[in-house]
Amino acid sequence: MNYKGKTALVVGAAKSGLAAVHFLLGCGARVILTDKKNRGELEGGVIPLIETARHSGELILQLGGHQIDSFRSCDFVVVSPGVPLALPEFETSRKAGVPIMAEIELAYRHLNGRIIGITGSNGKTTTTTLVYGLLAGAGFKAHAAGNIGTPLISYAANSSSENIYSVELSSFQLEGIHQFRPFVGAILNLTPDHLDRYPGYEQYIDAKRRIFMNQKVTDYAVLNADDPRTEAMASTVSAKPVLFSRLRTLECGTFVRGNRVLYKDETGETDLFPVSAVGLKGTHNLENVLAACAMAILAGAPAESLEESVRSFKGVEHRIEWVAESSGVQYYNDSKATNVDATIKSLEAFPGNILLIAGGRDKGGDFTVLKELVREKVKHLVLIGEAAGKIREALAGAVETSDARTMEEAVSMCRSLAQPGDIVLLAPACASFDMFRDYEQRGRVFKEAVRTL
Ligand code: ADP
Repeated sequence: MNYKGKTALVVGAAKSGLAAVHFLLGCGARVILTDKKNRGELEGGVIPLIETARHSGELILQLGGHQIDSFRSCDFVVVSPGVPLALPEFETSRKAGVPIMAEIELAYRHLNGRIIGITGSNGKTTTTTLVYGLLAGAGFKAHAAGNIGTPLISYAANSSSENIYSVELSSFQLEGIHQFRPFVGAILNLTPDHLDRYPGYEQYIDAKRRIFMNQKVTDYAVLNADDPRTEAMASTVSAKPVLFSRLRTLECGTFVRGNRVLYKDETGETDLFPVSAVGLKGTHNLENVLAACAMAILAGAPAESLEESVRSFKGVEHRIEWVAESSGVQYYNDSKATNVDATIKSLEAFPGNILLIAGGRDKGGDFTVLKELVREKVKHLVLIGEAAGKIREALAGAVETSDARTMEEAVSMCRSLAQPGDIVLLAPACASFDMFRDYEQRGRVFKEAVRTL
């Protein structure tokens, strides 16, 4: 693709935005990169670009705020996943007739190879990683991309038709697509999340649903049959619906019968492996495995290749990650439990005797739905961060509760209260940004505090 003579405005100077800049410069475009953060606040990846901008007339940096003229005068706008499309400056572009697209849309237009797109409220990273593992295990030239670490656009310059991309997609990215069409698209589940960024739950679901909007009858829509919201979508998609279920048998899809995982389609039923091959904790991870196996089979992976990859999958960091045992107490890091549903799944994964560390920045979650489960499974709750007061109120009377100012203090409180056989679990039900850079740093600080015990 040749963008000579065109000016692209890239909004957001984090990983995906920077990868888009490199790609566009490589295609001969003139690029303006803008971010509301200044150089000091941005991650190190922007530094080499500062040099490029100094020596080349093809790249202009507008950092520490946006220049409205650029939104009007460019030929098209590329948006990083972290930037909301509700940004007021985009209205200027829209009024001037300038197209606005997500980074994944730009990637889609230039990428060779097949795309499997995965979205949902929870389980995206785990399932995207699993799909990648199943495909790589079956000998495909597979890549994991999207929110998961490597932006899809990074692959665009050197892709070829035998590549297959397992792509994690957020609702924000899906808002900025136009032609993006995965040959397999999946919505894993739907529970309220990001209600601080959407007017309501319906708008959040509508954004997720966009993953299917360009699919054709020859494509596949993978949906959770145990989630009424996603199951209902099966009758509305243009692609062929393929379901997955932990709870019942299906005509087309992956499901559990007895202690076996099976796949069925119009050609018949295939026994894949025993449920016990799934080493990850929690029934939600069985759902992720069912979804991933359906997608791998639809991509052409032989059924008999799946078991070994499922057995060797050890999970992803910060997702119910075992950290250590100390004095008979097990410590688990589920820092990625950034919404209420993920915390529910996390609590459900353990039999009980949990000392739970929760709290952080509230994303508009309804913490009262945790009450019964907390009463049943949690011995003591330690609250951190801005949402502490709201959580305490929501769970009033359900459990003994303490407050901690730091993660280190929270861990040390748990340690002094825990008995042998107990579980100390970080599963915050909140975002991390009030106390940490992101959920990963929160998880690392937790693990460090545990290790220094
Ligand atoms: P995402 O990328 O959608 O945030 P992750 O795989 O990173 O999903 O997991 C996020 C959180 O949700 C973790 O706390 C994890 O334990 C939990 N989780 C993973 N899979 C599911 C699922 N299928 N349903 C509910 N919660 C899940």
